[in-house]
Amino acid sequence: MSGPIKGQADFLELGDWNSVCSMCGRKRKASQLVRHWQGMYRCPEHSEVRHSQDFVRAVPDIQTPPWVQPMPADVFVDLPDTLVVEAYPVGTDDPFESTLRFEILTEGGVPLTTE
Ligand SMILES: [Zn+2]
Repeated sequence: MSGPIKGQADFLELGDWNSVCSMCGRKRKASQLVRHWQGMYRCPEHSEVRHSQDFVRAVPDIQTPPWVQPMPADVFVDLPDTLVVEAYPVGTDDPFESTLRFEILTEGGVPLTTE
């Protein structure tokens, strides 16, 4: 009388059971298999460490500038027959102040001041 063919893991060991390697499919006792980093159980000779390049993290690429500010408002001068050569705010260090006075140099060299 012949039964099924028995492998090297087909024997009784209390508290242990048969399992197969996720890599080669070989049947072994569960206590002989080791857990792979992907969560599967493998033979000790088929288990491998996780590659170090899996842990590489990129440097964050933050493209927003650390600070920004709006452009200063345009200055419109309504002086007919006068060519403004240069105009700049006077009396304050804050170019974004709402009430600015401007010193205006004209083509004829006549300085004007706005309120
Ligand atoms: Zn194996």
